[in-house]
Amino acid sequence: MESDFCCLEDADSHLNHILISSPDEPGRIERAKTLFEEIRASINNNDDNDQSFWRPVLPWGGVYTIRAGRKAISCLPLYVKINLKNTCTIDGFLMLLYVILRDNQSFTREVAVFLGKQFVQHFLYLMDSYDYTTVKMLWIWDRMSKRQYRSEVHQAALEIDLFGNEHENFTKNLEDLMSTVQESLCSNWSCPARCQELLRKTININPPHELPDRDTIQSAVNGFFCPRTDLCKEIGCDGLREFSQRIFCHGPPPFVILNMQIWKSEELSYVPYYLALSQHRYSLEGATLFNKEESHYSAAFQIDGYWMHYDGLRSDNLILLNKPPEFLLLSSLVYIRSSDK
Ligand SMILES: [Zn+2]
Ligand SMILES: [Zn+2]
Repeated sequence: MESDFCCLEDADSHLNHILISSPDEPGRIERAKTLFEEIRASINNNDDNDQSFWRPVLPWGGVYTIRAGRKAISCLPLYVKINLKNTCTIDGFLMLLYVILRDNQSFTREVAVFLGKQFVQHFLYLMDSYDYTTVKMLWIWDRMSKRQYRSEVHQAALEIDLFGNEHENFTKNLEDLMSTVQESLCSNWSCPARCQELLRKTININPPHELPDRDTIQSAVNGFFCPRTDLCKEIGCDGLREFSQRIFCHGPPPFVILNMQIWKSEELSYVPYYLALSQHRYSLEGATLFNKEESHYSAAFQIDGYWMHYDGLRSDNLILLNKPPEFLLLSSLVYIRSSDK
């Protein structure tokens, strides 16, 4: 399958293809608006009657057709259709990643260090030009190890079913972007593993045991990063283990995804807009939401302070909200690094 992606090479050289001739001045060629420009324009031109975006964005699922060769006798090209199912485990995050990168140009280079320059260029090009199924295939082929999705061959149709957990299918595949390390030392000189290094690739924060706190999410983040002392868990050791401050392995990332899936609605009465994280200020950019009854994910994000809700399954799948959404069924919170002021 690898070779079929050669059509995605040189994304930059294809940029000319989103040029259209202007209806007003037939001789003049102008560039078609990218998806991000269209979304931003629709926010600014929005009247109260129409809250939905002008056409579906990144619809659920998809069918990807690849030319697999030729039938020997008829010389007709042979096509294979790949059906994508339950893509909501990646769709919301792909949407968020796109909005973050297009809204913060300087992040593109930073993210490319982790995900690869070519991947980021292809990703932006495909989203810009509304090529939704290909962008999902790009993510699946480029980022997920093969055993992470069940693929089923049904006659000539190959099916990729992404049913599962969005943190498994997306967050864990961001390489070392959010990697943190915490060192620890046991007070007992005969401890079988006195010095330890704890690496984490994602940020899972725990809800508070009791609820006296005003800002429970900030406290939970502090708990993840701050030094602490615990009983040593090595077998036969009764020492005390001192954990150092947790730090980002590659500096504070352009954005962080907080895994919130074990938080209950009642613990989420206050979602902070600003978060202090490893001596940097982060601001809320979006969230992914999980509907338990339907086992279905959707996402919310803001552009220029206007909040939008994205749900790939709906026919009007991108909706402008008149206030920030209620973050009661959270799967994740997404914060971006603020420029130092
Ligand atoms: Zn110990
Ligand atoms: Zn779904």
